[in-house]
Amino acid sequence: MTSSIAETARQGEAARRPTDGSGRTVLVTGASRGLGRALVETYANAGWTVIACMRKPMHAAAGAIVTEQLDVADPGSIAALARRLDGVAIDVLINNAAIRGDTGGLASLDADDFLEVIRVNALAPLLLVRALLPNLLTGSGRKIVNISSRSGSLAEGTLDDEDGDYAYRCSKAAMNMATSKLAHDLRGDGIAVVSLHPGWVRTDMGGEEAKIDVAASAAALKAIIDGTDRAASGTFRSYDGRQVSW
Ligand code: NDP
Repeated sequence: MTSSIAETARQGEAARRPTDGSGRTVLVTGASRGLGRALVETYANAGWTVIACMRKPMHAAAGAIVTEQLDVADPGSIAALARRLDGVAIDVLINNAAIRGDTGGLASLDADDFLEVIRVNALAPLLLVRALLPNLLTGSGRKIVNISSRSGSLAEGTLDDEDGDYAYRCSKAAMNMATSKLAHDLRGDGIAVVSLHPGWVRTDMGGEEAKIDVAASAAALKAIIDGTDRAASGTFRSYDGRQVSW
């Protein structure tokens, strides 16, 4: 364990006790911008200790926010993070980092691009869960949140969206299966695993036309995560609380 993380976790716990007494820690991937960054701010404002993971740490640690280097596409980077976090309890792990890849449809489908999207969006969350399982078992929150997308739903994804997102949609469908399988496999450990759709959010990925502000989406997601219990494990829900069909 690095002393900075241990120290920040201790300070965060001390600072938090008078307000909510939870002493909880959340880890967020893809925390450099967009929804990930908003989730970091939302949890930090609520008194949580936040481990904000990003490819190029650029924000100095502030208060109970610890920034950690993590390229989710690189198994070596995941292993290095797990080593640095050895012994640190994590209550909630949020797999948020994602890429969209080529959006040109079948005509421009490129094998390497497709596999990279699958690697980042579907494989990386599984590798991270495996690497940080000891941390999750040390924590008492025991929740894994996969930020998915309604566009990865077989039942709803193509109902009203017209785009060329083959790789992205397939990756989120694969992530959803990972949610379901992990929920089954980790039930005995008391770990709840869910897929959450954040809405159409104004970020680099969502674009300026998107309907929801990142802060609103992050606040809504946190409320859902707070209310997630073991009975909810293996579900796919939207930021507005609606159940999304797989
Ligand atoms: P953005 O494109 O705005 O941000 C993506 C984040 O993921 C960035 O922080 C980026 O880091 C990070 N990231 C990408 N690749 C890697 C990597 N290899 N290792 C580490 N971090 C990486 O996306 P959003 O904030 O909009 O999306 C957040 C989540 O919400 C995603 O899972 C997305 O699929 C999902 N979602 C978003 C919707 C929307 O409307 N915005 C709709 C439905 C789902 P860096 O700065 O280094 O590139």
